[in-house]
Amino acid sequence: MELFNKLGKTASKTYQATKEKAVNLSEELKLKGKITNLKDKISEKYSEIGKKVYIQVKDNKDVLKDEIIPICEEISNCEEQISKLEANILAIKKVKKCTECGAELEIGASFCSKCGKKQEQPQDVDLNQEQPQDTKEAEVVSINNSQENKENPENAE
Ligand SMILES: [Zn+2]
Repeated sequence: MELFNKLGKTASKTYQATKEKAVNLSEELKLKGKITNLKDKISEKYSEIGKKVYIQVKDNKDVLKDEIIPICEEISNCEEQISKLEANILAIKKVKKCTECGAELEIGASFCSKCGKKQEQPQDVDLNQEQPQDTKEAEVVSINNSQENKENPENAE
């Protein structure tokens, strides 16, 4: 009986590990699917910008930044979401990326095995916790500022 118990425990451990891997894999695929959708959306936005610019140039008009900037903001937004999803994928796979060359490394690695760059100690990545939004807000603000700066000369005329 002892032996059967041991076998049973080992089997259930293996089963748990396999199950966890399967869950992680399906989660990873789900996130990758979302990334693909976002990338498709970005391509659509690029076409949208291109079409607007083309029509304006063709009609000899000044390119209307007011029409273009909101689309650019949508693209930035998508890219923001993509980098979050990519971070989640790394967390699921329990790896991190080298800050220098982007190689995938063990989460606890102190140096990159590819380029030798010293790695920062990993923060605990909590999948349920949103990443801080500071960078995103800073980017939006800088886009808005450049919009204002470009509009001001027109207003002054
Ligand atoms: Zn590296």
